[in-house]
Amino acid sequence: HHKDRSTVWVGRPGHQVPIGPDTVTFIAGPCAVESAQQTLEAAQMAKSAGATILRGGAYKPRTSPYAFQGLGVAGLEILADVREATGLPVVTEVVDARDVTVVAEYADMLQIGTRNMANFGLLQAAGESGKPVLLKRGMTATIEEWLMAAEYIAQRGNLDIVLCERGIRTFEPATRNTLDISAVPVVQATSHLPIIVDPSHAAGLKELVVPLSRAAIAVGADGVIVDVHPNPEAALCDGPQALEGPELRELAQAMRLFPKLL
Ligand code: PEP
Repeated sequence: HHKDRSTVWVGRPGHQVPIGPDTVTFIAGPCAVESAQQTLEAAQMAKSAGATILRGGAYKPRTSPYAFQGLGVAGLEILADVREATGLPVVTEVVDARDVTVVAEYADMLQIGTRNMANFGLLQAAGESGKPVLLKRGMTATIEEWLMAAEYIAQRGNLDIVLCERGIRTFEPATRNTLDISAVPVVQATSHLPIIVDPSHAAGLKELVVPLSRAAIAVGADGVIVDVHPNPEAALCDGPQALEGPELRELAQAMRLFPKLL
């Protein structure tokens, strides 16, 4: 029922970064927090490329229970230290309603991942956390289901919600998921909430991250969130989609060259 599109502010007073219609926010960082050194290096890479918010998972929802699950609270502590060192506010995923309080103590923004979009207890707990929420689209969710998931957060009094299109499951195996770029204008026609795009988790391949970021900016997204890693070959999670060197420089250039088209 909002007439104007909203801006969500992320970070501590005096250091807040906007996500909304007046800017294209660049969020970058490691898929997973693996160590203090790796997270600091990834954050420095992200910052030099122009990112203004740091991403990084301390709790990793993995398809296999035998894969690296994240460092948990130790990872949150690393993220808080790296925020001190770089000045970048932090967005990090919470996967369990019981962890919302501790994640909110450390993070500037809570991320709800694709696998938890319809975890209503978690959405309600995030709605009571007092922190902005980045709500990823479920990989098999319709746009309406996604917007209704956002209502579970809003209903608890938290309107600081940013939507994130991160690809949906289709019959096409060339990419991990299919980035539904049309979701951006469809959401913007229906909802006042900011919407950003995650080309890294959609494609699963670093070669596609820059072109899909360009597409996101061109279609009017309010930002992009991408994975970077100082040594993708050694990454414990999603190395093939992590940017470094040339691709990161290309993305930095694309972010600077494309003014928001809206
Ligand atoms: C992530 O951003 O770390 C992540 C796991 O993304 P998604 O929930 O979109 O798969």
